[in-house]
Amino acid sequence: MSQALVCALCGTACPPRFRPPPPEISPDLDLRPGEPTRSTLARWVDTCAGCGAVAPDLSQLPRESVEIVESEGYLDLYARPETATPFLRYAMICREGDRAGAYLQAAWCADDADDDEAARHYRREAAAHWGEPDGIESALRLIDVLRRAGMLATAEECAGVIAGDAMDERSEAVLRYQRARIAEGDTARHMMSSALRPPARMPHVAHGKQLGGPKKKGFWGKLLGS
Ligand SMILES: [Zn+2]
Repeated sequence: MSQALVCALCGTACPPRFRPPPPEISPDLDLRPGEPTRSTLARWVDTCAGCGAVAPDLSQLPRESVEIVESEGYLDLYARPETATPFLRYAMICREGDRAGAYLQAAWCADDADDDEAARHYRREAAAHWGEPDGIESALRLIDVLRRAGMLATAEECAGVIAGDAMDERSEAVLRYQRARIAEGDTARHMMSSALRPPARMPHVAHGKQLGGPKKKGFWGKLLGS
C-alpha cells in the first residue's frame, strides 16, 4: 500500500516523482540524457496546485522553503524562456546540493528554445553552484558546463587540474575530447558518443542525480568563485 503524497510545504496532494522512459540514445557531454528521455524535461518538475512550490518531488522539499515560496521574488519570477521558469523557482527553494542541477536543467530549456544567451547565463549559474566535484564524472560534467557557458579559460584550467588524476579510459577519452573542443573555441553541444567512439557505450542517466559533493572551499570553489 502506497501512501498518498502531499506537498511538504502546504499539505496539498501531489503526484509521485516523474519517471522518464530510459534513454535509447547517447547523452550529451553534460549528461543530458538522449531521447526519449530528453524531451520529457518539462515533466521533471511539478508545480504544487496549493502553494506554487516547484520540485521533482514536492513531498521532499525542505520545510523552511515555505517563506521563499510566499515571497514576491518567487511569485514574480518569470524566466526567459518561459519553460525555464519552474526550474529557476525550484533552484530558489531546493537544497544547496540540488541547485546546480536545477540551473543546468534551466539551461537545457533555453537550449530547446534556441535562446543561447539565456542558456549561457544558466550554465554560469550552474557552475557557480557546482561545489567541489565529488568524482571524475562530476568534474567532466562541470568542464562541459563551463565550456558551453563560454568560460573557456576556466574550463581548460579545470581540465588541467584533473588531467594528472588516475581515471578510466572512458573518462580519459572524454577529457581529451573536451580539451580539443576548448582549444577550438567550440561552445556547441556534443554527444558522449562522439567522444567515446568506437564503441559508444550506454550512458548514465543524469536525471535526479546530485552533481557536486558537499560544499567545500577547495580549489574548485576558488576557481569558480563559489
Ligand atoms: Zn504546496
